[in-house]
Amino acid sequence: MIPSLVSILLRRGSLVPFIQILPPSGGESLLPAACPICDGARTTVRFNWRLAAETPGEFNKYTRTLLEKKSLKSGFLFECPTCGQKWHLDSVREIMTVIPRDKVALVEKWDSAPSFLAPRLFEKAKAIGATAAHRNSLDQDYAEVPCRVLTHQGETIDKCLLSFRKGPPLENYGNSIRLAQEIADIHPSDYALPREVRTASSRSEETRPGRAWTRVESARGAAFNLNWTVNLFDWKGVLGKDIRLPARKAENKPRRLPVIREPMEAITFFIADFNEKTPGLFPLR
Ligand SMILES: [Zn+2]
Repeated sequence: MIPSLVSILLRRGSLVPFIQILPPSGGESLLPAACPICDGARTTVRFNWRLAAETPGEFNKYTRTLLEKKSLKSGFLFECPTCGQKWHLDSVREIMTVIPRDKVALVEKWDSAPSFLAPRLFEKAKAIGATAAHRNSLDQDYAEVPCRVLTHQGETIDKCLLSFRKGPPLENYGNSIRLAQEIADIHPSDYALPREVRTASSRSEETRPGRAWTRVESARGAAFNLNWTVNLFDWKGVLGKDIRLPARKAENKPRRLPVIREPMEAITFFIADFNEKTPGLFPLR
């Protein structure tokens, strides 16, 4: 393990749960050309390309062998000549991320056309209001709007996040990642937290590793801790719309409260391009 590489990854990416570090290797790979996938380091899904290029040995071989195929809408597509695995390098040529095989078609679709909301829908998203990237997040060119979506296919989906970002959709959240072009209409969702609650959670402080709480309460007085940024809330019949920031500061004696994180598995993501218009979704800025 190379401390500089690891420390940079941890510092810059501590909020990104799918970052994993190259495990210690048993020695030089015999493969003349390799990526971490076919080299046996299958748990590596992201690494710092720039640092790897500057680091002799173990990491450097990946930067010597992965081949650049083309520019994408944002960033660059790379491919392993040995196993065919596709990789995405970000636009500043720093972070290399594996493209899961089941996401290759989605990334191609994302790359083939701009993803944006029609002006009428953009205004509706603005009325709901966007949540900014978490203050500690690697990528600040990011906004998300919780809502209910009607798709062109006629589906109504209650727990959606419009996700405005520059990079392609590479997250492993199952199959619930779609593109903004599929949206016919958007509405407020009962599961969405009020904007001021979401904003507070996006500014929470990491008080210990993995913990960045925002204390909130329901209209009936139940208290919760949101962990990191939370947009959608559905807990034992309490919905996001019922949640607010506490009127008074919490009493000194700490109570053990339910800790609520963003319910990623329950969310359908609709990806839109982060562009010069996106900051307009933050009405209070
Ligand atoms: Zn490979």
